[in-house]
Amino acid sequence: MTDQIPDITIIGGGPTGLFAAFYAGMRGATSQIVDALPELGGQLTALYPEKYIFDVGGFTKILAKDLVKALREQADQFHFKSHLNQNVTALEQEGDHFVLVTETDRFPTRSIVIAAGIGAFSPRRLPQACADPWYGRGIFDRVSNPDEFKGQRIVIIGGGDSAFDWAQQLRDRAKAVTLVHRSDKYRAHGATVADVQAAATAGRTTLLPFHELHEVRSEGERLTGITVRDVKAKTTLDIEADAILPMLGFHSDIGALAEWGLNCEKDEIVVNSLMETGRPGIYAAGDITSYPGKLKLIATGFGEAATAVNQAVHWIYPEKKVNPGHSSNMAIFGQKDD
Ligand SMILES: Cc1cc2nc3c(=O)[nH]c(=O)nc-3n(C[C@H](O)[C@H](O)[C@H](O)COP(=O)(O)OP(=O)(O)OC[C@H]3O[C@@H](n4cnc5c(N)ncnc54)[C@H](O)[C@@H]3O)c2cc1C
Repeated sequence: MTDQIPDITIIGGGPTGLFAAFYAGMRGATSQIVDALPELGGQLTALYPEKYIFDVGGFTKILAKDLVKALREQADQFHFKSHLNQNVTALEQEGDHFVLVTETDRFPTRSIVIAAGIGAFSPRRLPQACADPWYGRGIFDRVSNPDEFKGQRIVIIGGGDSAFDWAQQLRDRAKAVTLVHRSDKYRAHGATVADVQAAATAGRTTLLPFHELHEVRSEGERLTGITVRDVKAKTTLDIEADAILPMLGFHSDIGALAEWGLNCEKDEIVVNSLMETGRPGIYAAGDITSYPGKLKLIATGFGEAATAVNQAVHWIYPEKKVNPGHSSNMAIFGQKDD
């Protein structure tokens, strides 16, 4: 039975978790990823798939979604399993192994690498009850493929980075883009705000500060637009639209992880230089970790994932060295072994 239990279960399929899955395979360990989201890629997929990243080694610039694709391909060499839409809510110990528990499943595992980033996150919903029935059929709070909105009339609601990023990125694909925000104070990056404001001046985007959703308009089962309300003048305005994108930020919560006897401080796991968490067999890497000098970057997550996996492998198989040696000499890649 123990043989069928994966060596390492990685909580979180963001860049750190994906690299950990690759690294586990390279070390000859079996692994699986469990993630609360419907897609792999963590923040890169959920928050900024169409943004360029400039500070990942080896790429002058790379779109976040392309980095996720490359990480998946690298990890797929070792056929790791991923279990999506699975929010880990509890940890149990059964004999010589752990069991990670989600709402619907149980994942036995010999060791754990927590790569849970900022915790399980979910988009903030529109507070207006009239929006609820339209989620998934006219109202979408995630954009996985911007081309789905090609030629459509889009209303984006929000004043932060995601709202402005999508206003910028969808305007050349969509037929019309309107950005609605309940004030004129925008939290997005200054350059993006300036770009969207310039597009509004040029008539390529409509910017509606001091407005909020008042009503969803429909014909039968089809959403046809929204009515927005001017919060100052108390007047209303009808906007015809094919899709409404509320971009109101995310709730995030490390939830159950804080109750597992790990060294936790303020939604982070305090690790030492071995990525140990205070509980034998459980390691952490990436944005979830904290230590003096910690940088929350993709590049640091990669290094921490390598350390965490090497320690986990050695913990399960004490005869295996912690130091993996160089991949350029590894028989697993068809190279001459050291
Ligand atoms: C807009 C934006 C731009 C950025 N630009 C850059 C950049 O240019 N360069 C850079 O280096 N960094 C950048 N970052 C930061 C970078 O995205 C993070 O450092 C990186 O995503 C951390 O990776 P991670 O795998 O540790 O965590 P995450 O990407 O957060 O992934 C964690 C995963 O764990 C899952 N999870 C959490 N809790 C649970 C649970 N209980 N059960 C199951 N699954 C769980 C989550 O669903 C998530 O998928 C940017 C971030 C943002 C928001």
